[in-house]
Amino acid sequence: MRTPLIAGNWKMNGSVERIRAFGEAFAKAEFAAALDIAVIPPFPYLEAARHAFSGTPLTLGAQTLNPQPAGAHTGEVNAAMLAEFGVTYVLVGHSERRQCYGETNEDAYQRVRAALDAGLVPVLCVGETLAERNAGATRDVVLGQVAAVMQRLNADQRERLVIAYEPVWAIGTGLTATPEEAQATMGEIRAYLVTLDNALAETLRLLYGGSMKASNAAELLAQPDIDGGLVGGASLQIDDFFAICQSA
Ligand code: PGA
Repeated sequence: MRTPLIAGNWKMNGSVERIRAFGEAFAKAEFAAALDIAVIPPFPYLEAARHAFSGTPLTLGAQTLNPQPAGAHTGEVNAAMLAEFGVTYVLVGHSERRQCYGETNEDAYQRVRAALDAGLVPVLCVGETLAERNAGATRDVVLGQVAAVMQRLNADQRERLVIAYEPVWAIGTGLTATPEEAQATMGEIRAYLVTLDNALAETLRLLYGGSMKASNAAELLAQPDIDGGLVGGASLQIDDFFAICQSA
């Protein structure tokens, strides 16, 4: 009932050549079941990707946005600009943005609102650090990050969101949450959504992220509350990313 979404977060990686190669490889791709796929390259590649991905199952995402309207904000890119370049999804609150650029839950809310207002699909990223996990605070941290945004949205806005659970200790480390660990926390997120609205909880897609790769994707994606993946390192190689898409 929920169409899986596999999203490849290229972070600060990529090239025009890689964009072209992905477009060519996925032009011939066929998948057994309904599947949404997004590639999320750095800003300068969006226009090349829009052309290279047309006629393929690949849609476009962006890695962040500035929530303000056009104006004097040197170096920033806003939601209207992303929409003009054919972007469908935008990451919000990725742990690297929270940790390296000081983004808060308030920033995440402002970015989600700006994305929704421009017709983009925000992918709200949440997750606990290793210290928080060891302190037994996983549930509080993760549900706190989800609620900080969800509580301030109306019903229409909520249903247009995707949530990505990415344990910070599993990102880029090769350590993956076991399918049971991921399911436990993602089940808690789904249970929180039920407290807001049953229909929302049924339809909102929850992605797992954190060292997802071809060899572990199938068992993660088999969990009842995992509806897709936010894939970093393994999204940079066509074969790996393709294999993960096939697992979905
Ligand atoms: P990873 O990154 O797959 O390289 O762990 C995931 C992410 O940060 O979205």
